[in-house]
Amino acid sequence: MIISSNPIEIINQLKAIVGVQNYIEDTSQMDSYLKDARGLFQGLSPLILKPLNSEMVSAIVTLCNEACIGIVPQGGNTGLVGGSVPGKSGLEVVVSLERMNKIIDIDPINYTMTLEAGCILSEVQTAARDVGRMFPLSLAAEGSCQIGGNLSTNAGGMAVLRYGNAKELVLGLEVVLPDGSIMSGLRRLRKDNTGYDLKQLFLGAEGTLGIITKAVLKLFPLSTNKATSLVAMSDLGSTTKLLAKLREFSGDNITAFEYMDRACIDTLIEKTDLEDVFSQKYQHYALVELSSSRQDANLQSLLESVLEAAFVDGIAIDAVIATSETQAAQLWRLRETLTEVLRSLGAFIAFDVSIPVSLVPEFITKATKFCNEFCELGRVFAFGHIGDGNIHYYLFEPEDGDTDNFLAKKSEIKTNINDITAKLDGSFSAEHGVGLVKKQELKYYKSHVEIKLMREIKKTVDPNNIMNPGKVL
Ligand SMILES: Cc1cc2nc3c(=O)[nH]c(=O)nc-3n(C[C@H](O)[C@H](O)[C@H](O)COP(=O)(O)OP(=O)(O)OC[C@H]3O[C@@H](n4cnc5c(N)ncnc54)[C@H](O)[C@@H]3O)c2cc1C
Repeated sequence: MIISSNPIEIINQLKAIVGVQNYIEDTSQMDSYLKDARGLFQGLSPLILKPLNSEMVSAIVTLCNEACIGIVPQGGNTGLVGGSVPGKSGLEVVVSLERMNKIIDIDPINYTMTLEAGCILSEVQTAARDVGRMFPLSLAAEGSCQIGGNLSTNAGGMAVLRYGNAKELVLGLEVVLPDGSIMSGLRRLRKDNTGYDLKQLFLGAEGTLGIITKAVLKLFPLSTNKATSLVAMSDLGSTTKLLAKLREFSGDNITAFEYMDRACIDTLIEKTDLEDVFSQKYQHYALVELSSSRQDANLQSLLESVLEAAFVDGIAIDAVIATSETQAAQLWRLRETLTEVLRSLGAFIAFDVSIPVSLVPEFITKATKFCNEFCELGRVFAFGHIGDGNIHYYLFEPEDGDTDNFLAKKSEIKTNINDITAKLDGSFSAEHGVGLVKKQELKYYKSHVEIKLMREIKKTVDPNNIMNPGKVL
């Protein structure tokens, strides 16, 4: 192919690669590709490309690399750090994987699924279930996020405690590299010690090193036997003690351990049709789920006996165990509705931090002390995947407060909470990534040696800086 230096000709060549039905150039139809999920970032682009296969992706990337045109890989565009939309230059093309959504192979004996990167997460879960297997990654955006996006952000979600992050659910990858070559690593092997594990480079890279086009995912036995409980505790320290006890006595059958504080429950009761599960108000709650593929495992009585022991030790003070799937779904609604409800409360500053599990109570105590002193009447909410040490910590403006005054303090609040996190050996981004939103934090909290190595890898793999330019680094 002859590479033109005329931008209009390059655009025409890119359109020719995918064919008439598979691009958008009318800017009035681009909005959902240019604006991020939170509506915080609005970019510009001359062209949205929707390739049908890896060869088309390779041809697009080869041309863009020769012409030094930036590419923004895009999945379901549900990312929360601004990584999935182009910048404002109007020079970057978006490559949406939405039409590469075929499941290529499901092997129930090998417990693997091979698929294209544009498959929607909920459809992947269903396909696994249809053959009596389970793909355990689960998050609130699962109806629209894609596997390629999940792997590129190393998504977490509700079942990390038992199955790990997205990164831990992958055996093989096919990636189109920034020079257009295709790295074919679609291996279905659980053991493969043949040098550097190159796929790890692209997992969590947020599209800055290449475009993931296919993957081999790990499947698991389908857990249909479940026991769900909401447990109340009087102090924060008891939450992590209860988790440790449950892990020990359940044979590590615990799949979820989600924390919510009293402020979260009060808001849910006030803003939704959900009711308080207990007749009394408690300060701390954990939503607990045990699961197993063994139908003969009596998880309900196992949970009852662990909770009884927790009452005796003074760790738990009240609990309900769901006696039906409907009741379990009702308990889960508390946690699943929470983020959406909180976002209607006004201006806020949100943190997605992780801390060693044993230090989570210390983090919440110190962060809340700081917020109460620094922002009197500010409203604090702490919840999240405490089983993975991942806390979503929100500070909202005071009711009837001055929003501008509150937001003016944002930088100081962020610095203080991130400092508390760092002093407890935590991470400023547990599961949402870096994107555009957390670039400053990366510079400040990651060591110089690590940043230098990241830059060197980027320069080696993508010397023309065409892959998601300006994101992460
Ligand atoms: C309601 C809601 C709840 C959420 N809950 C969680 C949660 O519990 N846990 C969690 O971890 N995240 C959560 N998220 C964030 C988000 O859903 C995840 O980050 C998800 O993995 C992103 O997938 P996506 O397909 O939408 O990717 P996008 O948003 O399209 O892209 C995300 C990043 O990946 C890159 N990318 C996308 N596809 C590819 C590809 N094929 N190759 C290379 N790079 C690619 C993009 O360039 C971008 O940098 C939530 C988001 C919402 C809106």
